[in-house]
Amino acid sequence: METNTDIKNIAMADLIKKQNLIISGPCSAENEEQVIRTALELKATGRVDVLRAGVWKPRTNPGGFEGAGGKALSWLLQAKKLTGLPTAVEVATSKHVEDALSFDTDILWIGARTTVNPFSIQNIADALKGTNTTVLIKNPINPDIKLWIGAIERLQKVGIENIGLIHRGFSSYGNSEYRNAPLWQIPIEMKRLFPDMPMICDPSHICGKKETLLEISQKSIDLAYSGLIIESHCDPSVALTDKEQQVTPQQLVELLDAMVLKTISTGKKDFVDELNHLRAQIDCFDDELLALISNRMKVARKIGEIKIENDVTVLQASRWNEILDRTIKKSAGLDLGSTFIQSYMEAIHIESIRIQDSLNKMK
Ligand code: PEP
Ligand code: MN
Repeated sequence: METNTDIKNIAMADLIKKQNLIISGPCSAENEEQVIRTALELKATGRVDVLRAGVWKPRTNPGGFEGAGGKALSWLLQAKKLTGLPTAVEVATSKHVEDALSFDTDILWIGARTTVNPFSIQNIADALKGTNTTVLIKNPINPDIKLWIGAIERLQKVGIENIGLIHRGFSSYGNSEYRNAPLWQIPIEMKRLFPDMPMICDPSHICGKKETLLEISQKSIDLAYSGLIIESHCDPSVALTDKEQQVTPQQLVELLDAMVLKTISTGKKDFVDELNHLRAQIDCFDDELLALISNRMKVARKIGEIKIENDVTVLQASRWNEILDRTIKKSAGLDLGSTFIQSYMEAIHIESIRIQDSLNKMK
């Protein structure tokens, strides 16, 4: 017989797959009044599907506000009763899982600092066994796609079927434009590997400030993400954590209104015809590129052969500098980004070296 929990889990599994899912709420549940006020204001916008709040906060340095702990779960339960919004909470240990579920939390998420640690993920997975809870997994803080995949596998092994992914960016050394570099290629690769798993963007933790939230949110929509998790607070100026990046519920509405929502496809005949025509051109260019690269590698092989005959090293640093310099300069006049050309030439050069090296081994 289906229990209320089963019914809820099925509903949550469907909900996280919703196109343009919006999860919002405070970084941290600070006190009952703040949670309830934020939840009511979010509900009144009519734009939010799930209420989020951190209850246990992993902090980089000691002495900061580490969350209100278990008692905040009852504030969230109260907020759910008042608004009808399902709730989502971050869990980092098996005890968190048990406590959150005992307060009827609807969705759990695993934070970036937890996804990096297979022991923690296993501990959480063991506590989730047999629950069929819906779980969202944030990317690990470091750009290691295998850890993200490993976390999915550990949950799937204990029977968790309803998993969504959250892209919150990756930490890096030194100052950068973003609090956490987006490195879009990683979530794009995860979308390729797990096409049926919803990919949700967390622009708040990527940006670290309000000003760039729109740009990152829009970019995620353009990349066919299915939803957004955005931190909001009834009064961000007094927030105890992540003050700079939290928006008011009203600012959330303004942000969502400023975005252009996209669909994955449309049946419009003109669009489909034009798209197919342009894609045919892309396929032709890709074929030409492959043939050109293959010819280039044949020349590299010949160079490798004469290097061997003359006992000359495969790597010629000054020639490599010259190639890079020449192609980057040339790319400027061809409307090609220098970062792209640098990575492209590096990939070509590594392959040339591999070919020339393999000749060495055959000798
Ligand atoms: C959060 O969502 O408040 C949080 C702590 O995020 P992350 O795990 O991405 O740092
Ligand atoms: Mn936060």
